[in-house]
Amino acid sequence: MATLKNNSVLQATAQYKKYHVGKIETNQFTHQTFINVLDGFKEDEQLKFKEIGYSEEGRVIKSITFGKGKTKLLLWSQMHGNESTATRAILDILKFLIADDEFNSFREELVQKLTIQFIPMLNPDGTNRFQRRTATEIDMNRDAVELQTPEGELLMSIVDKFKPDVGFNLHDQRRFYNVSGTKVPSSISFLAPAYNEAREVNATREKAMQLIVGMNKTLQNFIPDGIGLYDDTYSFRSFGDNIQAKGVSTILIESGWLKNDMEKEAIRKLNFTALLSGFQMIANNSYSKYSVKNYEAIPLIDTKLFDVLIKNVSVGNAKVDVGISRTEHLLEAPNYYSIGLLEDLGDLSAHYGFETVNAKGLKMVSGKSILVDKLEELSMVSVKRLLRQGILFFITQNIPFEPHVPFPVNLVHPRKVQEVQSIKFDGKANFLLVDSANKIKYIIMNGFLINPSNIDSSTNGLVVV
Ligand SMILES: [Zn+2]
Repeated sequence: MATLKNNSVLQATAQYKKYHVGKIETNQFTHQTFINVLDGFKEDEQLKFKEIGYSEEGRVIKSITFGKGKTKLLLWSQMHGNESTATRAILDILKFLIADDEFNSFREELVQKLTIQFIPMLNPDGTNRFQRRTATEIDMNRDAVELQTPEGELLMSIVDKFKPDVGFNLHDQRRFYNVSGTKVPSSISFLAPAYNEAREVNATREKAMQLIVGMNKTLQNFIPDGIGLYDDTYSFRSFGDNIQAKGVSTILIESGWLKNDMEKEAIRKLNFTALLSGFQMIANNSYSKYSVKNYEAIPLIDTKLFDVLIKNVSVGNAKVDVGISRTEHLLEAPNYYSIGLLEDLGDLSAHYGFETVNAKGLKMVSGKSILVDKLEELSMVSVKRLLRQGILFFITQNIPFEPHVPFPVNLVHPRKVQEVQSIKFDGKANFLLVDSANKIKYIIMNGFLINPSNIDSSTNGLVVV
């Protein structure tokens, strides 16, 4: 490929394995794990580590600076504690920046032209809880004006002191964002945030847009259909919008979703590529050839995806579509369990599902339950056998101290049986799809779509007390 030969970013991506920091490969990890990995990097004249402040609960926040050029870049990640993809990509970029190989001339160009400051993991307290908000339950990205959080105050003080030319605001978004009008999830979403209500475009914002066009172009090599633009409604409390208003060309990158990438390692690699491509364009000014029109041509993102979409199912006399989505909840990292909710019901003809069932001729009915005395006698074999008969609920007084069941079945206290068996909007998604002869065609257990003839044992049920 001729383009690959001439483009250091695509070439480096082809050798990404060499730069991937394998010590962290999951969405969930602790602040201490991250600091240990950072400490493993050797400080040399190209990479300067600094303790820049502390979180509410006293965890250290570090920055890493690379290069000695005139143009200044500031990247910050994980201001939302459960959004770690870019933090991991930054580790890979650091490893790339200090490597000694055929990309030395590219690195040298970055060193001479740029000063890049990284602040990975702005919200270590939220990281340790794997939650969006800070220890004081504040959404840091709505704190850019009041600056009530020490972490948000720290970020703004660095913006004011360092005065970057370009800012990269790095986040994750849920998997239910699709590229508008398609069922493709947005793997990477971009935004050049607005700096006023009128969403005007000045030179600062235009530069952010041009850079996004260039990064989009690079990513087209990998995910041609999976890139979208985030809505640019002015958000006066958010950092991106406020930093753009200060004259820093600011780019929001949201790490979205790719199939079979639960730990977002593939999206991490896309971040590596997008960010290096941004650095390259800033260093050699090649972004200037792009226009605002190119930016506006990138499709918008939408929120039309469900984990499971069931179409045309009979509920009483009505025929409806049913949308189900699951959320993941922390156990001991990196493990999690899922909760599946019936998120919408009605005409969902404009929606998409990661899994879709055409349920024409099928009826939605409640799952069955049985009384169980001794939980320890349960095995996967017996659970599967009962599940095939439509039994989604094991009723027991003997409730374990766990929120979930590592089997495809729910454990329910007797007083909750009626409640769990009713099918309702915003309730837990447990029911059966049966044909006119009442034969079970599909099982929905805690939001997982299960084919009775091929039961996936990696799913989990819930404990309901
Ligand atoms: Zn976020």
